[in-house]
Amino acid sequence: MTTPQVSFEFFPPQNLEASFRLWDTVQSLAPLNPRFVSVTYGAGGTTRDLTREAVATLHKSSGLNVAAHLTCVNASKAETLEIAEGFAAAGVSELVALRGDPPKGSNGFEPHPEGFANSVELIEALAGTGKFTIRVGAYPEKHPEAADMQADVEWLKRKIDAGANEAITQFFFEAETFLRFRDACAKAGIDAPILPGVLPIENWKGVRKFAERCGTSVPAWLIEAFEKAERDNREDLLATAICTEMCSELLDEGVDSLHFYTLNRPELTRDVCHALGVTPAVKLENVA
Ligand code: FAD
Repeated sequence: MTTPQVSFEFFPPQNLEASFRLWDTVQSLAPLNPRFVSVTYGAGGTTRDLTREAVATLHKSSGLNVAAHLTCVNASKAETLEIAEGFAAAGVSELVALRGDPPKGSNGFEPHPEGFANSVELIEALAGTGKFTIRVGAYPEKHPEAADMQADVEWLKRKIDAGANEAITQFFFEAETFLRFRDACAKAGIDAPILPGVLPIENWKGVRKFAERCGTSVPAWLIEAFEKAERDNREDLLATAICTEMCSELLDEGVDSLHFYTLNRPELTRDVCHALGVTPAVKLENVA
């Protein structure tokens, strides 16, 4: 098993306490030398300014390679491109380009009258600037709006052909789910790297609800294991073991890069990374 490259996803903090938590998370994970870290963009564009600020601050202060998520919900093409230009001007040249989810309570995605109609249009426009490395979302168990798996893979191909460089998947709980998807993508002629999105289970009840919303299936063995672990108060141990096992299976199958959904909590992600051999680089001055 080779040591993987890793990347970490954060969300922008909404208040001072959350800012400190994000910074602690960054400090804790930065020594693992991530390939990039990314900052999400709230559903419906609700955290536009917070995302911008968090991205700029991390870029300036952390020394990490920062990628900004960008969606086209509730914004005209001009506004969306202006935000992207703002990132470029701040020295941020990596984006995760998404159509985005509408704000809570609305009925599905409605393009802005002067906005991008879908993610492919957004990706084409961003790629046309020549300023960005572009990553996009991918769905190993199909996106809830996709007609079927084949249609979803074909749509992903269109996103890559529109100029995306890599894809990051929705989270999943069994390595086999990702491997089947990787095969389907290869068969469809997708040759861009596909990074598995890995969610260490920090809060089992919350993750179950989240999985239902995203269309991520929760295997019966996982439910049983967490029921037992809850009784014994050993959820974190179980979460670390399960996540490490799944990642090891992926690495054994030739995956070389893992993207962790940290939810701004460093502990489980750090423990899984350590177990996979991703450890802080030792500095000579600290040894002497
Ligand atoms: P797309 O892939 O463009 O569309 C979703 C699916 O709908 C497609 O897979 C395709 O099957 C179907 N589809 C859509 N349009 C068409 C069409 N015209 N023709 C045929 N099929 C179509 N959301 C946020 O709000 N903020 C974030 O920061 C954020 N980060 C994310 C990061 C990752 C790695 C992932 C996987 C998701 C993230 N999301 C985020 C969630 C994402 O916005 C939602 O899943 C959204 O519903 C789809 O966005 P997308 O760009 O993946 O859409």
